[in-house]
Amino acid sequence: MDYDVLILGGGIIGCAVAYELSKYSLNVALIEKNYDIADDVALTNTAIVYDGMECEDTLMAKLEFMGNAMFEDITKKFNIPFKRCGSLITAEGEKGEAEIERLYNRAQDRGIEYVRLLNGYEAKEIEPGLGEGTGRALYSPNTGVVCPYDLAIAYGEVAFDNGVIFRLEEEVLDIEKTSRGVKVTTNKNKFTCRMVLNTIPGQHYRIDPDRNKSIKSEEYINYILIDEDNNDKYSNIVFSLKENGGSAYYINTLTEHSILSVRTDKVLSLEETLNAVACLEVNIDRDGIDSFYSDQSSNDVIIIDDSYLNNGYIRITGSHYGRVTMTPAIAKMVCETIVGNLNGRPRKDFKDSRREIFKFRELSNEERHQLIKVDKNYGKVICTCRLITEGEIIDSIRRPLGARTLQGIQRRTGAAIGKCKSSYCLNRIIKILARETNRQVTEIVKDSKKSRLVMCRIKEFDDV
Ligand SMILES: Cc1cc2nc3c(=O)[nH]c(=O)nc-3n(C[C@H](O)[C@H](O)[C@H](O)COP(=O)(O)OP(=O)(O)OC[C@H]3O[C@@H](n4cnc5c(N)ncnc54)[C@H](O)[C@@H]3O)c2cc1C
Repeated sequence: MDYDVLILGGGIIGCAVAYELSKYSLNVALIEKNYDIADDVALTNTAIVYDGMECEDTLMAKLEFMGNAMFEDITKKFNIPFKRCGSLITAEGEKGEAEIERLYNRAQDRGIEYVRLLNGYEAKEIEPGLGEGTGRALYSPNTGVVCPYDLAIAYGEVAFDNGVIFRLEEEVLDIEKTSRGVKVTTNKNKFTCRMVLNTIPGQHYRIDPDRNKSIKSEEYINYILIDEDNNDKYSNIVFSLKENGGSAYYINTLTEHSILSVRTDKVLSLEETLNAVACLEVNIDRDGIDSFYSDQSSNDVIIIDDSYLNNGYIRITGSHYGRVTMTPAIAKMVCETIVGNLNGRPRKDFKDSRREIFKFRELSNEERHQLIKVDKNYGKVICTCRLITEGEIIDSIRRPLGARTLQGIQRRTGAAIGKCKSSYCLNRIIKILARETNRQVTEIVKDSKKSRLVMCRIKEFDDV
């Protein structure tokens, strides 16, 4: 056998399971087709850490509730930002008020006892910016925000440091049962293993029992990202349930942005989105709009399908808007199943921490001086919008599972996503990445193989 366990897909769930399994004496590898882990999470996807009160499906609500409770511990251990900012759900019209009451009763039935049903006056005490007409509202102190790729990369780094092998740029083509275990065929290799966890969405392989089954219930989220000068309207996440279905919401993110968004059954234009979020009563200065985009969001049920456990196969299917929230809980459950099945023993030498990261912009001047004394690259600011230094960019490349693409650097450091939209720092970042990875600048890509950033050298400038 090549491995005890093969994890297929290096998204947040794959990385979280890799981390949990690295606590045991098992030989584990993860296969990811892209250059980087967590590559499918959008750069601006600041995830809401839900608490189960908003979710229609009871089982999904339970997974959200369980995952939510684990966030403090896991983000503290990995030293990544997590803000338990709280949330308020408000609603339009009489129908909306009845809906708020239904959600409150359902939260109580689910045992989410800290949720409070407020009148308009009480809601305005918590969020003074709410409109005069605010009626009943549902308040949860436990909702939060986290950056999904921060979490996924941290899970991956700690798993890597504890011996999990990450096979990046390798695409799974097939999975099949053999007499002794499971065989996974990729575009580069053939592997045998005792157990497979498949987190790849939408693909079906020979081993899958129901190859043609595909569940889909898509919604769209239309986002307006507003910049730092316009972002202090609410400190809680504020949801407004719309009379005609869907919801609009405001999130104060972990970066210097706020997000206004609306969940609907279709893609909206900027004007339509601005109209739909008007109920949140945020004064939007159009010059302060950083970006506007729409993305698909799913409301499927996530299934941890272990019906083929005897064949050494577990599959996680379904896509859900609260998947990041559920990740810590899903990873623990899947790990227990695998470890129980393979008789994994806890490792005594497991190291449950992440290598340190220095964020120049968050340090005091004295700390900055100390750092520059040790490594002068921390004294060279590359991204002036967000005060990111060459030292941080080099570290993001040299770390375990280090960045190999522009987006990899953006995700790990926050460089090149400031107000100038990378016009000042892009060339310098490309040069650093080329130098550190021993490649030509023309080989550097944004994210995928087909996204080269510099097309060619102009020979007249060869000496420059
Ligand atoms: C617009 C939007 C907003 C969201 N907001 C929230 C939120 O507020 N709160 C929340 O909790 N969640 C939220 N989510 C959900 C969350 O961001 C994603 O569902 C989550 O990141 C998916 O992670 P995953 O590990 O489950 O799947 P993926 O990230 O899809 O992981 C699968 C991996 O498999 C790899 N792969 C695919 N095919 C192959 C192959 N053949 N071989 C090898 N590798 C392969 C992919 O490259 C990918 O890295 C949101 C999602 C979207 C789209």
